[in-house]
Amino acid sequence: MSGKKVLIAGAGIGGLIAALSLLRRGFDVEIYEQASHLGEIGAGFQISANGARVLFALGLEARIRAVYMEPEGKQIRLWNTGETWKLFDLGTVSVERYGFPYFMIHRADLHTILVDAIREAKPDAIHLSARCVGCRQDDRSATLEFADGATAEGDVLVGADGVHSVIRQALFGSSDPTFTGCVAWRGMVPAKDLPEHIMRPVGTNWVGPGGHIVHYPLRRCELFNFVAVVERDDWQVESWTERGTNAECAADFEGWNEDIQTIISKLDTPYKWALLGREPMDRWSVGRITLIGDACHPTLPFLAQGSVMAIEDGFVLARCLEAYDDAAVALQHYERARIERTGKIVRGSADNGKRFHSHALSNSEEAQAYVDREFEESRVEQRYDWIFRYDATAVDLG
Ligand SMILES: Cc1cc2nc3c(=O)[nH]c(=O)nc-3n(C[C@H](O)[C@H](O)[C@H](O)COP(=O)(O)OP(=O)(O)OC[C@H]3O[C@@H](n4cnc5c(N)ncnc54)[C@H](O)[C@@H]3O)c2cc1C
Repeated sequence: MSGKKVLIAGAGIGGLIAALSLLRRGFDVEIYEQASHLGEIGAGFQISANGARVLFALGLEARIRAVYMEPEGKQIRLWNTGETWKLFDLGTVSVERYGFPYFMIHRADLHTILVDAIREAKPDAIHLSARCVGCRQDDRSATLEFADGATAEGDVLVGADGVHSVIRQALFGSSDPTFTGCVAWRGMVPAKDLPEHIMRPVGTNWVGPGGHIVHYPLRRCELFNFVAVVERDDWQVESWTERGTNAECAADFEGWNEDIQTIISKLDTPYKWALLGREPMDRWSVGRITLIGDACHPTLPFLAQGSVMAIEDGFVLARCLEAYDDAAVALQHYERARIERTGKIVRGSADNGKRFHSHALSNSEEAQAYVDREFEESRVEQRYDWIFRYDATAVDLG
């Protein structure tokens, strides 16, 4: 289908990766984003080797290395005593084992890198203030409909419009998410505001009864990224932009280690996001219209794989559209290549949440036995190795 026109709804990480992968293969691409200006929220991404592989294959390695942070490893810490265990080595080990680094990157930095690369390939590919409200198709084309009554026509349409996707709704009706009973807090702290023993070049995962916290440095250790998940049922708004207060966040983690209290007190603005769970879908495509990323497999953030799955999706989708002439056939191959893996990630993420929040972590003695068992090297490898080893650039397209 090379040379054909692909419409993409949404300029998040999934939409941008799909666009760049398609432009690199000679497709014409138009991206429609509802926001009036481009950007990402102030937060970090952890990108494992399977995501790095795709980003580097798109020729972005040098730009990413200029702004990313490659941690030495990941550690587990106990919520109250702060006792520390190694989870796994990263840095050189990720490169030795999987051929690519595991890194942390500011979402805005990755977004800018992708937008720049797209604009170099096609300066006017991205259309802003373009809110999609629906879509339709016939034998020859797909049509995207906008809030202002305008339309756009192409050979293929990709819904990359995130967890509240209108394209998914147009294809399959409204979904019925269930509240997980968890709320995620997130925020940033300038590195200079934190003591050295907290601001280390490692990813840290605090585990405790009813909650867990992930933090890591960003931008060559200039910034500190904080995500804290707590079980509570009085907040059910699923949004990146809802603000809370430092005091409310601190109250959710009362009794947790002093390091946690220090970090929470220094957060610039704490944001809160209710975590909703959705069962994996049976299909993502109808004719010449399909979905990628959170639009088709929203994932709880407990394996840090949501955006990495969107990255893999975008690349595999472009490979399928290049490999098969018929749009509907190409989209069936894409869906088949991706649906089982992403479903496994959705379920694995939910399981990891339970693991991080176990009540066996309440007291130190029981916690030691629990951590020894659950985070034992071979078990950790079993949980992560298949994820990191995947190669979206070569996986069989069926
Ligand atoms: C607390 C938290 C931490 C996370 N940490 C990680 C991590 O470390 N690593 C990781 O891999 N993943 C992580 N994730 C998951 C990751 O954020 C998502 O999986 C990822 O952002 C999905 O990308 P996407 O492009 O599919 O959707 P989005 O990023 O949601 O992008 C969708 C885009 O579409 C636009 N849009 C929406 N509706 C319309 C419309 N009607 N018309 C036009 N445009 C529209 C939006 O404005 C947006 O730009 C985390 C998630 C959470 C909640």
